[in-house]
Amino acid sequence: MGDRIYLDHAATTYTKPEVLEEMLPYFTKQYGNPSSVHSFGRESRKAMDLARERTAKALNANPNDIFFTGSGTEADNWAVKGAALANRKKGNHIITTTIEHHAVLHTCNYLEQNGFDVTYLPVDEYGIVDAEQVRNAITDQTILVSVMTANNEIGTIQPIKEIGAITREKGVLFHTDAVQAIGSVPIDVDDMNIDLLSLAAHKFYGPKGIGALYIRKGVKAQQMLHGGAQERNRRAGTENLPAIVGLGKAIEMAALDIPGHNARLEALRNRLITGILSTVEHARLNGHPEKRLSGNVNFCFEFIEGEALLLSLDIKGIAGSSGSACTSGTLDPSHVLLAIGLPHEIAHGSLRLTLGEQNTQEEIDYVLEVLPQLVQRLREMSPLFNQQKGGQIFV
Ligand SMILES: *Cc1c(COP(=O)(O)O)cnc(C)c1O
Repeated sequence: MGDRIYLDHAATTYTKPEVLEEMLPYFTKQYGNPSSVHSFGRESRKAMDLARERTAKALNANPNDIFFTGSGTEADNWAVKGAALANRKKGNHIITTTIEHHAVLHTCNYLEQNGFDVTYLPVDEYGIVDAEQVRNAITDQTILVSVMTANNEIGTIQPIKEIGAITREKGVLFHTDAVQAIGSVPIDVDDMNIDLLSLAAHKFYGPKGIGALYIRKGVKAQQMLHGGAQERNRRAGTENLPAIVGLGKAIEMAALDIPGHNARLEALRNRLITGILSTVEHARLNGHPEKRLSGNVNFCFEFIEGEALLLSLDIKGIAGSSGSACTSGTLDPSHVLLAIGLPHEIAHGSLRLTLGEQNTQEEIDYVLEVLPQLVQRLREMSPLFNQQKGGQIFV
């Protein structure tokens, strides 16, 4: 156990040493521009081709259908805006869900301001989207369905294959934000009928600032970045070669070890969930008990503020998150927790702990020792809790 415990892997992961090692020569020795014709350039091109092949293999895709981007956010923007704009003649209706990442939700809001109709499908109490609801929402104007593979806050895994079968039958494009899913949920773009898929390396032990969008051959997605002829004329800008090499290595490692990764993390996750449920009163597990990412733990503790708990944990050397990293810093409760039906005051008391490859049982046991005491202490200071207990009310 180190001096601090990192339990925020859904926000970002460290880069694995094997990944960093493959990246390093591309900063200092093999720094050629992949578009250059000389030997420096050719070496870079070869490294980029390998990364593309590794990425394609992890998704059962064709390497020609993989396009590198600067982030998961860029991949989501490209997929949703690109598909909407390129298919506008067919219709102006998009279907998504209320629990998507803001990279998809805010992009859909933007499209609404520009003449598109967007249906935001509700989810059940576990955060699951009903595939039949997707079917029923499709009209003759629908051009795109975007449903995330797994949720970044509560870890719920969606019925992607069922949704893909429906969109294929109806002739509608299907995008999935798989940023949280890579390395935990096996992906096969053909078997699942996925047309567009977003991913980002820093969520699976690769570097930050690099992502990819899978675009199935023949699928129209308008170009977002105009300029040079990079990425087969579809995404301009000199490629971030070290990061692309890192993404390739990281996704290869992640895809090879999905069962092992899940077995290791699930053991820790279940220990943490069972431990919290048995030691903390008024604790509610958010998300589905089984259909959830192996590394995801998300709880609401009634009568306390998630932010206060987060700070107390940080003082004890435990790094978690409340809501999602993107919304931390605002006092709005998470849109995901509201979407699964939690009232505002309960959604405020949420804590997300997301496990990673380096976490140990010892660390989990330390969390289980510290967390109940912190919750107890915060509740003792909470007027709501004292009111409910019939104790003294502090105002
Ligand atoms: C992190 C994340 C993103 C954004 O990826 P960035 O690389 O940080 O831009 C998008 N969707 C989901 C589900 C995520 O978890």
